[in-house]
Amino acid sequence: MRFGAHVSSSGGISNAIGRGRDIGCDALQVFTHNPRTWTPINHKDGEVAGFRTQAAEAGMEPLVSHGLYLINLGAPDAEVPTGPPGKPANKTRNIHRFSVESLVQHLEIGGRLGLAGVVLHVGSSKGSTYDDAVARIAAGIREALDRVPGTCQVYLENTAGAGDTIGRTFAQLADVADRVDHDARVGFCLDTQHLFASGYPVHEPGGIDRVLDEFDRVVGMHRLRCLHLNDSATPFGANRDRHANIGEGLIGEDGMRRILGNPDLQGLPVILEVPGSGDGPDAENMERTRRLHREGLEMRSGT
Ligand SMILES: [Zn+2]
Ligand SMILES: [Zn+2]
Repeated sequence: MRFGAHVSSSGGISNAIGRGRDIGCDALQVFTHNPRTWTPINHKDGEVAGFRTQAAEAGMEPLVSHGLYLINLGAPDAEVPTGPPGKPANKTRNIHRFSVESLVQHLEIGGRLGLAGVVLHVGSSKGSTYDDAVARIAAGIREALDRVPGTCQVYLENTAGAGDTIGRTFAQLADVADRVDHDARVGFCLDTQHLFASGYPVHEPGGIDRVLDEFDRVVGMHRLRCLHLNDSATPFGANRDRHANIGEGLIGEDGMRRILGNPDLQGLPVILEVPGSGDGPDAENMERTRRLHREGLEMRSGT
């Protein structure tokens, strides 16, 4: 396992590498976009070069990004009224098309930065049928991958199962991936908090083994590229997306040892997206994760 975290790229994307190194990361996840706006950041060549050089020097890999939360490829392909948050609508926008263009931008900057993949929330059906939404999502991902050749992949992430989000089950993730037609560039990212919240018992004795057996049957373990390791501030099956620090939530230290000791996960990057003491993943969470990993492997081998 390579342990990493989502770190801030404020002040320039190259700053992310040093921030990751300071808390003990071997792998890294960043936002390449400002999470509050569709307008892309104009990453200067010098920043991009600095990011790549510093990552190489620090031996930091893999490097991934998390897609803008505004992206919803499942939204209707139509102009809908929109406005500033909490204010009446003052214009219209085609959220589906904005989402495709944003995914194109994510893949382009991902290629420039040498990222292995873009973690993407699959989307929600927004009142249309499940089949229509899945078809739109798959078409959007296919278009973006067609328009941006290269090695940067799309990693579909499972959701906590809130509302009409798609991706709460492995079957839903497979439905989307099967229709994209880019098998080599569509992988998956599983989030432990989202699994727990959507009713996959990863915390129980033997639980993670059964859950991954199901993932293997429905999707294929060879397509799992990344693990988001987060504890849960919300109960099992609650369908809510609330991350807790490692070992401090309802998955707990025992659940984390079971997950981290699973032999099938050992080759993966493990990315923390925990609150820390308010500023996100910190050295303490990284150290605790490494300790629970060691203990999980010992538990598993019976030593
Ligand atoms: Zn996510
Ligand atoms: Zn989450």
